[in-house]
Amino acid sequence: MSPAKLNSLFAIFGLLTAAPLFSQQLNSNFARDPAQPIDQQYSDQIHKYTTDPSFLSPLVDYLPGSKTVPTPAKVLGDVSGAPDMLPYAEDVYKYFRLLESTSPRVKVFTIGHSEEGREMIAAAIADPELLAGVKANDARLAKLSDPRAINLDDTAARQLVDQSYPVYYITGTIHSPETGAPTALMELAYRLAVDNAPYIKFIRSHMIVLITPVVEVDGRDRMVDLYKWHKAHPNEKYPHLLYWGHYVAHDNNRDAMGMTLNLTRNVLDTYIGWHAQVLHDLHESVPFLYDNTVGDGPYNAWVDPTLADEWAELGWNNVAQMQSLGMPGVFTHGDFDTWSPGYLMFLAGMHNGISRLYETFGNGGADTEKRILEPEEYSRTWYRQNPPLPIVNWSQRDNNNYEESALLTTISYFSQNTHHFLENYYLKSKRSVQKPTLEGPAAYVIPADPADANRQIELLKVMKRQHVEVQQLSEAATSTLPPAKRGDKPTQETFPAGSLVIRMDQPYSRVADALLDHEFWAPDDPQKHPYDDTGWSFSHLFNLKVVRVVDPAILQSNMALLDNASTLAGKVSGAGSVLAIANTGQVSLLPLVYKLTGKDGTLKGSGIQIAEKDFDADSKHYPAGSLLITGTEYSQITPMLHDLSLDAARLAAAPSVPTRPATAPRVALMHTWLSTETEGWWRYAFDTAGVPYDYISTQTAAAEPDLRAKYDVIVFAPVGFAGTESNIDGIPMWNNAMPWQKSDLTPNLGRIDSTPDIRPGLGYDGIAHLKQFITNGGLLITCEDTAQFAIDTGLAPGVSVASRGDARVVGTILNTVFVARDNPVAFGYGPGVPVISANGMAFNISNTLGGRSGRTLMDPYAERPTGRGSVDDSDVPTGRKIVDAEPLVKQQPWEAKKLNEEEMRNNLFLIPTELRPDVILRFAEGKSLLLDGLLDKASSIAEHAVVVDAHLGQGNVLLFGNNPVYRGETVGTYAMVFNAILNYQHLAHEPAVAAPAPDKH
Ligand SMILES: [Zn+2]
Repeated sequence: MSPAKLNSLFAIFGLLTAAPLFSQQLNSNFARDPAQPIDQQYSDQIHKYTTDPSFLSPLVDYLPGSKTVPTPAKVLGDVSGAPDMLPYAEDVYKYFRLLESTSPRVKVFTIGHSEEGREMIAAAIADPELLAGVKANDARLAKLSDPRAINLDDTAARQLVDQSYPVYYITGTIHSPETGAPTALMELAYRLAVDNAPYIKFIRSHMIVLITPVVEVDGRDRMVDLYKWHKAHPNEKYPHLLYWGHYVAHDNNRDAMGMTLNLTRNVLDTYIGWHAQVLHDLHESVPFLYDNTVGDGPYNAWVDPTLADEWAELGWNNVAQMQSLGMPGVFTHGDFDTWSPGYLMFLAGMHNGISRLYETFGNGGADTEKRILEPEEYSRTWYRQNPPLPIVNWSQRDNNNYEESALLTTISYFSQNTHHFLENYYLKSKRSVQKPTLEGPAAYVIPADPADANRQIELLKVMKRQHVEVQQLSEAATSTLPPAKRGDKPTQETFPAGSLVIRMDQPYSRVADALLDHEFWAPDDPQKHPYDDTGWSFSHLFNLKVVRVVDPAILQSNMALLDNASTLAGKVSGAGSVLAIANTGQVSLLPLVYKLTGKDGTLKGSGIQIAEKDFDADSKHYPAGSLLITGTEYSQITPMLHDLSLDAARLAAAPSVPTRPATAPRVALMHTWLSTETEGWWRYAFDTAGVPYDYISTQTAAAEPDLRAKYDVIVFAPVGFAGTESNIDGIPMWNNAMPWQKSDLTPNLGRIDSTPDIRPGLGYDGIAHLKQFITNGGLLITCEDTAQFAIDTGLAPGVSVASRGDARVVGTILNTVFVARDNPVAFGYGPGVPVISANGMAFNISNTLGGRSGRTLMDPYAERPTGRGSVDDSDVPTGRKIVDAEPLVKQQPWEAKKLNEEEMRNNLFLIPTELRPDVILRFAEGKSLLLDGLLDKASSIAEHAVVVDAHLGQGNVLLFGNNPVYRGETVGTYAMVFNAILNYQHLAHEPAVAAPAPDKH
């Protein structure tokens, strides 16, 4: 429907508000073909399963009949959205392939596989003439998407637009408990292929609709298992879905930056491979349909303004169309801010297309339920004049009706405006290529630096997955850089040959710009509830030097496309017998040790030593923590170094530096049965890097008295802000046992880990076993909520969580300073490392246990009482002698309070010197703390400890206030965890660089 038509419709509609149902009859835009028979039985079932007539629209209140093309009922046994029924992905695919075999308007493709090997598909639907011309059409779209191919010639673009038809890509059920999309998309595909309604015929003949009915296919099959278990045990409670995907759950929709997951890569490759204009992702949460396309501010600062206009155009149009159909509870403005580019749909937003997302109302399965809404859900507000009903009997069919009606109306609008959207597509692509001469920058330069090469390669892998071109300088280039601060003078920097250049005159410059630039979220931004992380700069998170170059002269430098980033590292120089590998914070030093010495070590008999101090050899500097390897066959180790992107030098003799042998620590990753998402990112990182581990649960730890006999390191990655009591108690035992196991009923459960009952937690036995593990020399690595757990259960004496006061941190990248640079955790790092902080968690350190750890953080002499003298003088009481006070010792915010004789006398809770916690990393001071995102009122956390090593018996507990292994984005901090594992026996108390003042005076 054109905007003009819509306006006239509003005019009519305004007169008829008293009888909204008439408007459905008036709306002829979506009239069906009276000559086409309907499938009466199927249509009857649609009505039967729809719980209220207003939850149905004339677009979906019937199903056209076909003599040749089977309806979804053929595979499902009932209609789409029927109660009590969820199809497996394989059944959904079976139907799409049935459509393909019976309709010339449907083509089905494999688009890749999941981590667990399950297939992902896409179906293209259009008239056979369009499908037959797909290749030629795609060649035209490719030119619009990369206007360099037509020299940015608008006339040529105009011709291409005239000849081309667009591609609208719809993706379903990325979030596995949001179960409605697959059946809605099955039926939508049938309608698009079969219905002869004029508006559908128009869609088919003007555009290609591309559908991936199941995005998270591993999780879908587990969700169906779970639902089947629930239906087989009608009077019992059933578990919430764990392991939505192989690694992560809800965060699979935060992967559009790092692109770590197969589903993200498969969807982007499909979107780009088809040169689609829209990526429209289906979700379920709020009632009844939130088209969050418009969302709320702040909008991402790197999107083209045309995209923001398209969001408004499509979003408000969609609401108006649904309104004209009389369907309540549809809105588009709302609390989703459009700042972070991490959502799956944002793959389109960052690649010159249009990102869209629906939240419809789902019941987390196919049960029909009475749903009771919250006031903020059913209240009327300016952008939701027709809000959802406060209490509703809601069915999966209702959900499917909303999904299909909204999609059909919006696709119909799109089909009538294809020229407009293709022009915009070209315009956005053109402006991406023109970025250096429009708003800039000209390029990002990553200076050649062997110390950074390993992490540079990790960043280039991301760029490659994002389809960003990377060039390499073939000779040095000098650029003028803008002043670091306002008022300073510009500077010049010369980048050596071999430096990497990400040119901004390429079609996907936008995503590189958004990932490598820095972000600032104003503390007084009207948006007070950021939807997700406020900072994400990959330059910082990969701990790399990345220079934003505005000077367009850089684009004239001699450079060539870098196809294979792995050439940046993996070189072996020299000819001696000792192989030296500098520790520079690589992600693959620890994996190399496992490859050489682990269970399946191929080079047994070789010796690996870890240098305990810095040294120089063959005029190269090696930081502490570097590896020295002897007794290897170089022909065997060289390919390994290449695979792991590690440079090495062969030294003539062992350098004179104290060393200790490296072993392959036995690692367990311990998860809860509460949630497996945040730890999933750790599993992902360990698997990808090549760090072997046993995957155990808190129940395993509860049952295993001698954990130390099995493991050297236990990693208790974050649960996702679970309270300590939840980690101990698990899920309440009031109800029935809830198995997570493979069975005939649930063939997809219990493969990653299994238990006959997910309810029990770690329990007090588990805590005792962990305590024994640590005191016997093990290392427990904790982070965020599990660091809190370690503190609460007495595993980290002398450590407490610092009050955040009124500090505001929301997924912010913060600056830090290493306090103990000689601690092995800090090996390979410079003075500090950027960290991402979820909410500003930091630690206080004390030399005592319990309540006697008061702190004096302010300068004790900063304030004086009223009395004699000037502000700098001491007061002098009169009429008695003067006794000097005990000097107050100021300590830094990251340090423990220094105790005087009075405080230590007969103090049963004084921690012995060698067992006092060591601060490894602290936040920077307030004015230099913020790197990216939102930071407000930082004083309560500034300079506080953020990584601490606590000591218990012979062992250690490492506590991270930041999450060093997060969403595949924090490559710069992985090495802190890997260093800790490799050096787990050597974290014990050592004097810090700046020796603390003695406790006695
Ligand atoms: Zn969702």
